[in-house]
Amino acid sequence: MRLNASEASKFWELRRRHATIDDGATTPSQPVLEYRRKSHVVLLLMLLLLLSITFAATFNARYSIVVIGTLLLVAAASFTIVGPVLELLWCVWSTSNIDDSPLQKQVYLTRWDQKLRRYFWNGDRKRYFSKTALGFTIVVLLLTYIIISLGKSQGYIPPEIPIHVLNDPNPDQSLLTVFLIDGLRADIFEDELTAGNLPAIQALATNGCRVRSVMSSFPSITGYAYWPLLTGMDATRSGHLGTRTFDRRLTAGNWRNHYGPGSVHFEPTFEPNVPTLFEVTAAHRKGWTLSGNSMLKRGANVTYVAGLEQYFSKLMHAWWLAKLLRMIPVIGWRVAPNFYEFETRFVRRMLKLVDQGQPRVVWTVFPSTDNVAHALGVNEEYHLVLRAIDTAIGHYVDAVQSSNAHSYKSFTFAVISDHGEANVDIPAGGNLDLCEAFLSKGVRAWRGDAKAWSAKFDEPIETFGADKDLLIGIQGDASGSVYVKSSHGWLNRTYEDELQSYKVTGRDDVDLLQTALEYQGVELVAWSRENGVVIVQTKTSNTRGDIDISAAGVIHLESDGRISYTVEERSYAGTSSSRCPLGYEPNLADGKPRSAREWLKSTQQTPFPYAIVRLIQCLTVPGLAPDMVVTAQDGFDFGKDWEYFIRNFAGGHGGISSAHLRTPAIFSGKGVVATGDVVEFATAEDVGASLHTLLLGPLDSDDALPSLQFMEYRKDDDDIIAAAYRANANTTGGESYAQDLLRGTPISCITGHG
Ligand SMILES: [Zn+2]
Repeated sequence: MRLNASEASKFWELRRRHATIDDGATTPSQPVLEYRRKSHVVLLLMLLLLLSITFAATFNARYSIVVIGTLLLVAAASFTIVGPVLELLWCVWSTSNIDDSPLQKQVYLTRWDQKLRRYFWNGDRKRYFSKTALGFTIVVLLLTYIIISLGKSQGYIPPEIPIHVLNDPNPDQSLLTVFLIDGLRADIFEDELTAGNLPAIQALATNGCRVRSVMSSFPSITGYAYWPLLTGMDATRSGHLGTRTFDRRLTAGNWRNHYGPGSVHFEPTFEPNVPTLFEVTAAHRKGWTLSGNSMLKRGANVTYVAGLEQYFSKLMHAWWLAKLLRMIPVIGWRVAPNFYEFETRFVRRMLKLVDQGQPRVVWTVFPSTDNVAHALGVNEEYHLVLRAIDTAIGHYVDAVQSSNAHSYKSFTFAVISDHGEANVDIPAGGNLDLCEAFLSKGVRAWRGDAKAWSAKFDEPIETFGADKDLLIGIQGDASGSVYVKSSHGWLNRTYEDELQSYKVTGRDDVDLLQTALEYQGVELVAWSRENGVVIVQTKTSNTRGDIDISAAGVIHLESDGRISYTVEERSYAGTSSSRCPLGYEPNLADGKPRSAREWLKSTQQTPFPYAIVRLIQCLTVPGLAPDMVVTAQDGFDFGKDWEYFIRNFAGGHGGISSAHLRTPAIFSGKGVVATGDVVEFATAEDVGASLHTLLLGPLDSDDALPSLQFMEYRKDDDDIIAAAYRANANTTGGESYAQDLLRGTPISCITGHG
């Protein structure tokens, strides 16, 4: 084909404009236009993604996530399959306005030929698909997956309420609602209440009753400390002893760290023969149950967990990703809320679930008080978060009582907590590694990782324990459960004698008790002389660094379940002390047996209320009892450079002193007989027993009490509290002494019994 001059110039003009065109021989293909179009597609997809996320966050989340997924998949598909077809159409369109001439034919045919070769049978096609489209599709699919899982874990997707629970032909027409405010310290709560800053809770207390001091479980830690509140039973007989423990009953997977992937083993390993509030509801055919944000929820018909959303609110002050997510316009506050937004939103979602159909029990946890204490300390923000939770509770109570969506005839509300809180002085170096105390003496101490990164829990004790002498299960992070490899190996307990002169290869014997007690920041150390005889010592120190080590308190469990106490003089650095380690009145150290109830009453005004009972319970658990418990002074913890993201806690719990153990409780509405009452003290088990009584209604209080039948299933004959219960089951009084170490009693303002 020959071109005249004007045709030739037109041809070259066209070549300039359509740089992709070549005749297949002279110059290599340069797909400028394709790149441009590809980048258009990318931009379009990004826009689509942003729009979808905004849509998901703003409107109905569940359907939006399906929509996002579908849109992204369609986009990916069109890029790989529809794209080439569009390219061909583009080619036809762009050449259709060229004059009918030999040149037009030339251009037309060249372009068609090239496109067809490129997409359908040329080697270029392969490259196009594998490198760009396939890679992009993978990225898009990954993004879709991330968005969907983010949506799921954030609690955007509310749980389904099973039809069979909604269709219960005979639902109970009353509603028991339990608000658990995580880490609510009794004294701060009382200050806020007195100052009038908690109007909603005050209204509940005015129309009901309030318990000033509820003794939390020890170790005072989330999840584990829910057990007595949900069952009415002492937490030490729950199958757990805190959240990081060493289980001597096993030969593999003894180290039980229930954070991270290891959390899957937490709920299933609680005592199966003790029913939770949810299971009791089901057993008595009282209707269905709903649990919100609870670490322990066994038997609940519907559970709702906020997941990542809560995590982001906790880490807002410590983690760049949470901060970054929050900066995203429009949706940032939804993906990464602050404490206030998080709690308010969660309560609103719980209300929607309740409105769907008359649950009998609603158990909802407000985690932000504990989260703010860990992240920032017990400071002004802690107070503000507490007030925001009060507002949320008020909103919930009003909404549920005035809603027309259900036919409740009566309501009972309870506000409870799982443990207190204490500050850690980060700038003053308050975060400590308790291992250092032992390592300096040549004892191979180990506290493990803050999270169990494998859920397998299968490492044989031979390999796990081969390079360690001492394990520290950090709890909350203000206390440590210390397990020592005895001269008989890991599976035997180590008592006082051996702890005082611990053999270390190539070195002098180490007094592990003294080592722990002398270590800075340690407040209390307790251990066993033999099973059922617990020794406790405490340390006080002033700002000059002078330390004062107390005498030794000897706590003795009697065979009838009562507990006696004496103080043994101890000398330290040339001076001897007869100071009671727990700050109790001298007359209490008379060695006379007292019941758990008497100890509860007589130790209320001390720095370690009820500690005598909590220590005996903790240090007599078969298989799980630590050889030493060590707790931190105010201002200290044992989690130095250890926790993920936050690294060092500004506050925490886990200990046994007043700040850690005391929490408040409020009961209001149907079933509460004494209104306006203030009860001075109770135990967490009593709170659980009270909830069971409120649930089961106007039954005789004995029937409503949680059953101790589970003791019959327990095979551990070396449980001396269980033995005391069994041995005294037929004697007057004796049975109840041991019972009080295992189970709570409904609080007087609920039963009306004084
Ligand atoms: Zn907690």
